[in-house]
Amino acid sequence: MGRIEEIENYASINNIPIMQKDGITYLENYIKENNIKKILEIGSAIGYSAIKMALVNKNIKITTVERDKNRYDIAVKNINDFKLDNQINIILNDALYLDIKGKYDLIFIDAAKAQNIKFFEKYKNNLSDNGVIITDNLNFHGLTTNIENIQSKNLKSLVKKINNYKEFLINNQEFKTTFIDVGDGISISKKNVKNYESMI
Ligand code: SAH
Ligand code: MG
Repeated sequence: MGRIEEIENYASINNIPIMQKDGITYLENYIKENNIKKILEIGSAIGYSAIKMALVNKNIKITTVERDKNRYDIAVKNINDFKLDNQINIILNDALYLDIKGKYDLIFIDAAKAQNIKFFEKYKNNLSDNGVIITDNLNFHGLTTNIENIQSKNLKSLVKKINNYKEFLINNQEFKTTFIDVGDGISISKKNVKNYESMI
């Protein structure tokens, strides 16, 4: 049986950006409280968040996508060590070009930060009626509020893209988004319930 601390240590030593502890705890509670059963995760890395989410409840099923072969291999091993291969289906592919069938109660976007809008627009079609899209790393280690102090051009451009994503969420008419300052900053986007009055 695997141990969570081993994965955390491995991630820390090898600079793998797994969710921060209070972030993943928040997510686990959210899944519990909202009785979430089907989860789609974009960005598995070494399987840490998928394993934590699967451990919330035996009835939870997770599909998770990772494009990096090395990380995918480690994730597969970790998932098997935890005997969670019956709950977690991991796919080695680029999530930008993948076609996922089925509907999910929770879509967790935690992949390439510059692509968040693309992931959101693509995978919102896989959301069940009362589903939510949660995105990680919206504070990006505090850099999103400190953009003028950033020297590196690439980093500045990435931080701008994260801020664009926040604007995109705020202005999105189809979804209502709440930003939660936990872990590295997450957003919770719910589809607006259709206004019945406006339909008659
Ligand atoms: N959710 C994980 C951490 C994911 S880190 C956890 O908290 O445990 C982000 C991962 O997304 C990286 O491993 C990276 O390889 C992957 N990624 C980035 N862009 C991707 C894409 N387009 N398709 C699939 N995976 C992607
Ligand atoms: Mg993250």
